[in-house]
Amino acid sequence: MPYAPPRLCPRHGPFTGSRCPACSKMEDRARGSRHVRGYDAEWVKLRAAHLAKHPACAVCGTTAGVDVDHVQSIREAPHRRLDPMNLRTLCRLHHNRKTHGGRHTP
Ligand SMILES: [Zn+2]
Ligand SMILES: [Zn+2]
Repeated sequence: MPYAPPRLCPRHGPFTGSRCPACSKMEDRARGSRHVRGYDAEWVKLRAAHLAKHPACAVCGTTAGVDVDHVQSIREAPHRRLDPMNLRTLCRLHHNRKTHGGRHTP
């Protein structure tokens, strides 16, 4: 095996291998938090599909200013974030009312 001299990471100093292990760990963590935050391309697509199928507010039936709401919040049920059964259309008013008020009651 050829001898590989240690390389120098500008942030973490010398390391062996092709990448600084500390840097790749940091990048993994950044990628993870971006995923957890939740509003990615998949969600945008699912949201649009839901709005096409259910254009009106599930509570009052208006189509003005519709939002797609998670029936069970992402915090409560992260695994249901992209579950079509966990979505419902809400108008701005009812979405705000839910977000700032009670959890499940419209
Ligand atoms: Zn590094
Ligand atoms: Zn409404």
